[in-house]
Amino acid sequence: MYIIAGPCSIENENFIDIGKKVKKLGATHLRGGVFKPRSSPFRWHGIGLEAIPLLQRAKEEVSLPLVVEAMSPQQIEILYPYVDVFQCGTRNATNTEFLKELGRQDKPVIYKRGMAQTIEEFVMGADFILNEGNQDVTLCERGIRTFETYTRNTFDVSCIAAVHELCDLPIIADPSHGTGKRSLVHPVALAAIAAGADGLIVEVHDDPDKAMTDGPQSLTPQEFEKLMYQINRIKGVVDHVR
Ligand code: PEP
Ligand code: MN
Repeated sequence: MYIIAGPCSIENENFIDIGKKVKKLGATHLRGGVFKPRSSPFRWHGIGLEAIPLLQRAKEEVSLPLVVEAMSPQQIEILYPYVDVFQCGTRNATNTEFLKELGRQDKPVIYKRGMAQTIEEFVMGADFILNEGNQDVTLCERGIRTFETYTRNTFDVSCIAAVHELCDLPIIADPSHGTGKRSLVHPVALAAIAAGADGLIVEVHDDPDKAMTDGPQSLTPQEFEKLMYQINRIKGVVDHVR
């Protein structure tokens, strides 16, 4: 089961400390954004290449596989030596040429649902990766755009069960982007696991109020610890959890 945790963006060496904390609490993978997709070109875009030494240090000092988003073939090439799993973000979910490029890699891919993709389009999007040869694809429900504004996106728990009906690929849940609110991450994560999610990707920051990106939806390590405790309890009572 993938339990991917870590900051939205790699900011500085606190990435290493966060990595050590989430590992101790049960994370199987460490996440961190290097080149950040943003809604405005005038916003901060991540530390980019300055993250490379931190990725190398994390590999040695935290020793968890690293999950990082790439947004272009060029970024795949830059990140390739340092990253264990490529994340395809929601904004690239329908960029079929990019999906084909991910399909030519020999590293696992986390494929996030496009914010306007139907469930069937989501599954077909994964086919673009599979069809090029890469069979290590995990889908990720991260919420879709609806009329709702209280939450950042509308997390579609039905997508998790539906994907299991439609294909054999694993699917994980991202309750952080799925809700945009720290207080909702925990209950939505539990619902996703109960619905059959094969894992989670959760944003964790040691000081969320100071995070450069996505602080309002980031858990503290203490909150992540509580979540892990409940996740393990839910897993124990739901039969179909793989
Ligand atoms: C992220 O994981 O930080 C991210 C940008 O995700 P998404 O593509 O789902 O918005
Ligand atoms: Mn984020």
